[in-house]
Amino acid sequence: MRIDLHTHSNRSDGTTSPGALVRHARETGIDVLAITDHDTTEGWAEASEAAAAEGLTLVRGIEISCKLEGSAVHLLAYLPDPAYGPLVDELGRILDGRNARLPATVAKLRAIGSDIEEDDVRRIAGDAAGIGRPHVADALVDKGVVQDRSEAFDTYLGSRGPAYVKRYAAPLEEMVRTVAAAGGVSVVAHPWGRRYTHQALDEARFAALKEEGLSGIEVDHQDHDEPTRAELRSIARNLGLVVTGSSDYHGEGKVDHDLGCNTTDPEELSRLLDLARASAQVAGRTTPEVLLP
Ligand code: AMP
Ligand code: MN
Ligand code: MN
Ligand code: MN
Repeated sequence: MRIDLHTHSNRSDGTTSPGALVRHARETGIDVLAITDHDTTEGWAEASEAAAAEGLTLVRGIEISCKLEGSAVHLLAYLPDPAYGPLVDELGRILDGRNARLPATVAKLRAIGSDIEEDDVRRIAGDAAGIGRPHVADALVDKGVVQDRSEAFDTYLGSRGPAYVKRYAAPLEEMVRTVAAAGGVSVVAHPWGRRYTHQALDEARFAALKEEGLSGIEVDHQDHDEPTRAELRSIARNLGLVVTGSSDYHGEGKVDHDLGCNTTDPEELSRLLDLARASAQVAGRTTPEVLLP
């Protein structure tokens, strides 16, 4: 069974529709796929429909923009009730922050000589629920300012770049509690990835997050080298946290993140689903059963 628990569609910064994402996963031999767009559940309905048609098992997820001691941390939330008020409110705040930062980003780019307009970015963002820097990057590629997304991040949009603008992110511990209260489970995405300062995410912190309801750690991810994976795996084992592995697929938006390039062990998924069932029961929320192939 091939399981990929972290992928993006064009409802965030991926380049394929949710339906096309599911069909591509099927062609690639993925049996269980999670759709985890940034800060939105907008892709779930179309992905569910396609998954039913293709006979693929879909796990509905969100990659939520959080912060811990001032650093960005991404939290993968699986199977929360998407109608749970506090979750809806917080995702709304994050999406508002994403959309509000566009004028400032464009102003900074124009100040350093790029002939780019907000509408260029909005057109590219198309069906996305919120604007992300990758959409700005694509607009810069369109204008011939840079070759690809990576160059746009390296030159302009990265956190130390001249066009970087801060935005709202949810406090991590609070979000772990919110996801649990929504009947879902949470897994810290690529905790020690290159772009994230991870000093705050050590074993003691993972232990504390587990107390708040954290279920797992995304260990196998392209942003982690082998020693990093080994160390995170051992932390997860020590703390009894679920270990996941995923592609973080973004369609054509990210190279070296092909579907299934990392996968999750079926036993780990089954533990995660047990935890999700227990979480929904404690929270008094209903989430549809995920039927494994
Ligand atoms: P934002 O969500 O607007 O903060 O932008 C961050 C997103 O940009 C991440 O989710 C990544 O998917 C993407 N990203 C970050 N760095 C790069 C890069 N060097 N090349 C391509 N995409 C990137
Ligand atoms: Mn992304
Ligand atoms: Mn991420
Ligand atoms: Mn991601």
